[in-house]
Parts: sequence; structure tokens; C-alpha cells
Amino acid sequence: MNFIDLNYIDRCISQIAKYTEKGRPFTRLVFSEEFIQGRNWLTQKFKELNLITRIDDAGNLIGVFKSNANSSKKILIGSHIDTVAYGGKYDGIAGVVSGLSIIKSLLDNSIDLPFDIEIYDYLGEELNDWNMSCIGSRGICGALTEGMLNSKNSQGIILRDEINKIGGNSKNIDKLSNQFENVLACFELHIEQGITLENKGIDIGIVESMPNISRHKILIKGQAGHSGTTLMENRNDALVTASKLIVFINNLAKKISLRDNRHFVATVGKIEVSPNYVTIIPSDVEFIIDLRVVNETSREFFFKEINKEIKKIKKLENFTINFQDLMFSPYVEMSQVINESLKKSANDLNYRFVSMDSGAGHDTAHLAKVSKASIIFIPCKNGLSHCPEEYTNSINIKKGSEVILKSILDLKENYNETRL
Ligand SMILES: [Zn+2]
Repeated sequence: MNFIDLNYIDRCISQIAKYTEKGRPFTRLVFSEEFIQGRNWLTQKFKELNLITRIDDAGNLIGVFKSNANSSKKILIGSHIDTVAYGGKYDGIAGVVSGLSIIKSLLDNSIDLPFDIEIYDYLGEELNDWNMSCIGSRGICGALTEGMLNSKNSQGIILRDEINKIGGNSKNIDKLSNQFENVLACFELHIEQGITLENKGIDIGIVESMPNISRHKILIKGQAGHSGTTLMENRNDALVTASKLIVFINNLAKKISLRDNRHFVATVGKIEVSPNYVTIIPSDVEFIIDLRVVNETSREFFFKEINKEIKKIKKLENFTINFQDLMFSPYVEMSQVINESLKKSANDLNYRFVSMDSGAGHDTAHLAKVSKASIIFIPCKNGLSHCPEEYTNSINIKKGSEVILKSILDLKENYNETRL
């Protein structure tokens, strides 16, 4: 049989890349005009493959490949077509295109399945102005709370109104998770967004887990003063103390990650300085630590050491330092049954594969809590992502799609006995 059509993948990737904010490629923020255009493109692609198209109550766009067996059972394949601002052509999109290419292969080879396949564009996976990610995948898993739905963005727009406008029905979202009793498996293909696969010359990363993701704010209060007249020995410069603490956090994270054989990364990427004025000594600094950890002991050690350092600074210098937990999303394991099937498929196809942890959260993190779900990674050039340089060769998408397709065909072969 002809497996996955490489040219089709190429065409799809370059077609959807056109729907971006002019002047800042590639930007297709959830609910934006470009996002709607991208969804119209995807709806057209679903139609070309004779898929039944619908939008569910959480605003996910779905193309359904119906089985002739008229089965209630189904497999979900999906990712997202929204991007961050100045993002890339592949993050999320590769996974949706992979789903399209799998359906095309089934059609090209006249293969019928004993279950349906649903291709998902999960609504708004990227972090948005409501300070939330994975709107659609949270929605179908029953993890979109009333508080989240009623939250307002910086313009005062309520999230639930946007979901309704795009075709969802926010009143009924809580019923969506009932469908999972009929879901046999969920698959996602995604670029790695790291450099492990490329460096090792590996085709497929089979994800074992997604880490704890947490964010923590540190607030430092010193004393403002005149930058010309306050002598150096008389200063309480909050920015200097924040800088020392940020360097300390970075060194600590490096030390822990070297001895931890699972994923451990910490980043300070957001900082606010007050009054942020050239001639005033900074009096207040707030910064946020973004932490991704698999191993709980490492996480505890990290905070113990930071607390020790804060105590030390407070003892020596006259600062108020406060620590606030902002959010916590727990560690999630991918389905071992699905992973075993994916490993067998990669092996049968002679593709090099490795088991790995994900550093980022993905839609599948939510799906794995309520169903048998897993995600595979494909290499991306220099590990770059969330930037216009983001790139993966379509051959990588083809290989990953073949692995997923092979697992689906294996499930078909063993369907009566397996009942995954
Ligand atoms: Zn993504």
C-alpha cells in the first residue's frame, strides 16, 4: 500500500502558513481573523476528504471519518492550528496535518475501519490573553471550570462568549467528557521543540510523561532613591538583589538537571521593575519562575534551596521578599498500552525511536487523564520553536504519521480481541 503522501503534507503546511497576521509571521492567535481563516481552510480540507465536519460545545473543530460498520467507537487524532505571536509553521499544525494525511492514506488505499476516526483542531492550545492554554482539550475532558469560562481577558472579553461565537455552546461543555467511554485511543504528533532527537539522529520520540508545570512569583521590596546622590553603600536596590537571585535559581536548576535523569528545567522569563526609571534606584521587582519537573524530590529540593537563599539575603540586607504560588498543573503519564503499540509500529517500520519526557504541556496532557492517549515527537531543526525559524522536514511528519497509522491498522487487525 502507499503509506503517507509526502507531497500532500508539503502542500498542507505551506497552504495554512498563509493565514498569518501580515507583518509578523507566523501569528494566528486563537479567535483572531487569521485563526478563523485557518479554520475555514481546515474545514475545506475535511470536505475534500469527505469527512463530516462539526464544531463541538467546547469550540473544537472536528472532521469525522465514518466507519462503514456504523460503530460508536472512535479514535481521536489531533493537535492545534493556533500559534503564539511570531510563532512557527509546525507547532500544532504538524499534528493536524498528520491527521489529514492518515485519513488520505486510508482513502487512497480504500481501507475501512471497524471504528471512526475524528481529526481535531483543539481550540486554543497556546497560552492566551485569558492566561490559559488548551481551552478545547480541557473542555472535552471536563477540565474547563465555570471560573475559567467566565474569566475576562485584558480587553474585558469573557472567554465563554468567544467560545460561543466560534460555534461552541459553553453551557453544555461539562457533558462532553461522557464521550470518552467510546474513545479507544487518542494520538498526537508534535514537533519536539527541543534538540534531543535531532542530535541523536532519532526519528520518533515516544513520550512517557508530561512534567509538573508550575509558576511562582517572587516579590522583592527595597528602597527607591536618587540615582545621583545615594551613595553605593546606602542603597537597597531591589533589581540587584533580584538579579543575584535569578542567577542563583539558574545555577541551582543546572545542578539539579545534571543529576536528575528525568526532565528538570526552570526559567525566569518575566520580570517587572518599579519604578523602571533611569534616575531612580529600583524599589520593587517581581519576577516569575516557570518550572517543569518530573521528579518530586528534585522539586522539593529546588524550593528548599531557594528558601534558604532568600533567608540568607534577608539576614544580610534590608529587603522584604515574598513568594507566591501562581499555578500548578500536575505530572501526567501517557498510556503504556498506546506507547507499546507505537514502539512496535516504529520498530516494524525500521524507524529509530526513543522514550522521553516532554518538556512542554500539550493537548494530550489533558486527554491522557480521561483516556488512553499518547503523543509522539518528531525532530525539529536546531530544537527551535515558538519562532519563525521553526522547521521540520515533511519527511519527519510522514514518518510520524506512518507510525500512528500503523498502530491504528494494528488495532483494526486485533480489534475483536484487543478492545483497547
Ligand atoms: Zn503545540
